[in-house]
Order: sequence, then C-alpha cells, then structure tokens
Amino acid sequence: LFTGPVDFLKGVVAMDGLPPADRPEVCFAGRSNVGKSSLINALTGRRALARTSNTPGRTQEINFFTLGESHYLVDLPGYGFAKAPVPVVEKWQRLLRAYLAGRANLRRAFVLVDMRHGIKDVDHEIMTLLDKSAVTFQVVLTKSDKLGAAAQDKTLAQVRGALARHPAAFPELLVTSSEKRDGLDSLRAIIAGLG
Ligand code: GDP
Repeated sequence: LFTGPVDFLKGVVAMDGLPPADRPEVCFAGRSNVGKSSLINALTGRRALARTSNTPGRTQEINFFTLGESHYLVDLPGYGFAKAPVPVVEKWQRLLRAYLAGRANLRRAFVLVDMRHGIKDVDHEIMTLLDKSAVTFQVVLTKSDKLGAAAQDKTLAQVRGALARHPAAFPELLVTSSEKRDGLDSLRAIIAGLG
C-alpha cells in the first residue's frame, strides 16, 4: 500500500522545523497508554518504530514518520498525564495549536480511544481543538480484544453520542486491536485513500 521506506524522519519542536508540506499527512493523538505506539508499530509493520515517541526527550515533540514516499504519519505526544513543568506544557500547547491550525497538507487526525474507557474529558479537549482548527478527525477504538461484543457495542454507543457535539468528527468509527491485528487493513486503506 505504501511503497518506499517506513521510517522515523524527525522530531519537531518548533514550527520552522516541520518537513516541507509536500505530501498528504495524517496525525495520531490519544491519551497516554491508549495503545498509540502499538498501533503505529502494527500499522507500519515496524516493530518498536513508534517507541521513539515515548522515550524521554521526545515526549514534547511532534514526531514525523514516512509512510513510503506518498504520506507522512505524525505521532503527537500522549496527553492526560502531563507531569512536565508549566512553561514546557505551554510551549508544547502553542506548538500543537500552530501545527493543527497551519498544516496545509494535514488530511485527517486519528484520535485513539481505549475501547474499555470510551471518550473522557481530555479527549473532548483535543477534539475541541481539532474542531477549532477545522481538522477532520476520526476516532479509532483501540484494544478491542479486551472486550466482548456487548461491551464493545456499549462503548460504540457512548462514543457516537459524545461525538455529536464535535463538528469536525468523521462519523465512521474504527475498531482495532494491535494485538490481534484487527482493523489495521481498514485504517491503512483510509490513509492511502487520503490523497
Ligand atoms: P501509548 O502510551 O499510547 O503509546 O501505549 P502503548 O502502545 O505503549 O500501549 C500501552 C499498553 O497497552 C501496553 O501495555 C500495550 O501492550 C497495551 N496494548 C496496546 N495495544 C493493545 C491491544 O491491541 N490489545 C491489548 N490487549 N493490549 C494492547
């Protein structure tokens, strides 16, 4: 689906460090521990690729990966457990806002939500920022293997209800399990189709 290397490109700490906006790009956001690294690794078939984003020093960066020669994949740091000093958090939030509002080639954000937990307040915060930035976002439910069908349906209903207040939300939800490799083909096909 993606021809050419899938690789870590760079970690960006300021807007002038962004790679040229010369190809379509998607970004991944989610609470810490939602399974973002696992999903990116499973999606790209590169084991431990996205661990980079969780290593100290890289947690305040916007991390760019190449998806072959056609797309960029962007890993935004996990939110919700911000233990960093206030000035650091504020600098990061300014960068995130500038990136989301100003990145012309950003086609879609994928907001990861743990299927056991559903949408929480911190998820609403990032979703509101995406609304304001006019970035279409799609919810990706993670760790579906941890739930049976009835519990999955319950979360799906909660998520659908919670998304009603977000104009930038894309209606179709994606159910995934990195462990069982479920839903990854659909996600890949969606990204590849965002020209
Ligand atoms: P991140 O902080 O969002 O990057 O989360 P990680 O990818 O590091 O995953 C957090 C924890 O959830 C780890 O213990 C993973 O093994 C686990 N995990 C991630 N994805 C799945 C999944 O699809 N199924 C199950 N059962 N566990 C998962």
